[in-house]
Amino acid sequence: MNGTMMSVIPGETHGFHPASTPDYLPAAQLRDLQLGRLRGIVRRAYENVAYFRKGMQARGVTPGDLRTLGDIVQLPFMVKNDLRDTYPFGLFASPLSDIVRLHASSGTTGKPIVVAYTREDIAVWASVMVRSFAACGLHQGDVIQNAYGYGLFTGGLGAHYGAEELGAMVIPISGGNTDRQIMIMKDFGVTAICCTPSYFTHLIERAGELGVNMKELPLRAGVFGAEPWTDGMRRHIEAHTNIKAYDIYGLSEIIGPGVGVECQCQAGLHIFEDHFYPEIIDPETCEPLADGAEGELVLTTLSKQAMPVIRYRTRDITAILAEPCACGRTIRRIRRIGRRSDDMFIIRGVNVFPSQIETALLSIDGTTPHYQIVLTRAHGLDELAVRVEMTPALFSDKISGLEELQQRITQAIERTIGIRADVRLVEPNTIARSEGKAKRVLDQRNMES
Ligand SMILES: [Zn+2]
Repeated sequence: MNGTMMSVIPGETHGFHPASTPDYLPAAQLRDLQLGRLRGIVRRAYENVAYFRKGMQARGVTPGDLRTLGDIVQLPFMVKNDLRDTYPFGLFASPLSDIVRLHASSGTTGKPIVVAYTREDIAVWASVMVRSFAACGLHQGDVIQNAYGYGLFTGGLGAHYGAEELGAMVIPISGGNTDRQIMIMKDFGVTAICCTPSYFTHLIERAGELGVNMKELPLRAGVFGAEPWTDGMRRHIEAHTNIKAYDIYGLSEIIGPGVGVECQCQAGLHIFEDHFYPEIIDPETCEPLADGAEGELVLTTLSKQAMPVIRYRTRDITAILAEPCACGRTIRRIRRIGRRSDDMFIIRGVNVFPSQIETALLSIDGTTPHYQIVLTRAHGLDELAVRVEMTPALFSDKISGLEELQQRITQAIERTIGIRADVRLVEPNTIARSEGKAKRVLDQRNMES
């Protein structure tokens, strides 16, 4: 890509990073690249990993049967349990001596999921993170505070190497230590932050208590991910700061953060399709769905050497947006993920997602994004309670105002999910703050008889 690209790419306000070149490939060229890589990765998996060989043999498919991208539907799906069942190294397609990094899920229930990277995989990961930051308008000269957790979790190191390769100044502060985060943000002239959106709302709140006005800081971008979040949450964050809040998507099973990201148009997340091939399926029938239709996202890694993942069912509900984006990128977008089938809970026979409650809650003026959903069972009947923190200003308000607010929240939730929740307004700072992924749902139904 030559320098003249700089002036012709709309939506890019800070020039062009060469790593972003594949974002703009002509569609036909991108499809050719994907097919070549798909055939290579499927052959690699078949030849080196017994799990894939057995799965394909059971369906009577060989790597040579892949003649078009559409032939991918002949391959079996993978689910999270396949990664658990092969613990720890059963899915590796490279000799251990070629693997330079392992990450693992937290494994709160049973064995964790282990993921592996060759040196080449780490380079690809850094490049998709560079492309992610560049899509959010970040560049050399930015000061990026990386508040994702460093360690076995992929968030911290994934963002770290990408931000360094971008040429930004990286502050590897990791999660937690909130007062120090705010001091450093202020003293080091931080221009962008990476963390979970729920943790950032906590930073906003704590900054207010410390007398730091986030609108007076040079902070102008937030790259938020690792948990689903709503447009209501985005409005809350953008109203309290001068940042643009961008959604970044990824999962450890595929590579970590950097599978997809919003560009400056904030209209869906571009998937780095030259490395991750997206499909949408009907989660019940597993049939492939057309562009635009909502279903479960299925991803295939097209270039991962150490641990190829083929047709992985992410449990994330979205749709592929095939229309061109105003930013000029040709890689397709997915709609923001508001729902993960893993997060869904069923109450009185109704499927409910925490994001529906968040959307209803944040549609009401005077509410905060600090809430918790509590499920209990009394006399055989499920009860749904939503605890919502009041702002300090409201807390000092007269009782009638509070009752009216409670009523409005109850109605908004009932309109959204069709169930009447027991809405309880609680004092400021009484719901536990998370330094990583927020725990929105407390299901106490099995704790009671
Ligand atoms: Zn775009």
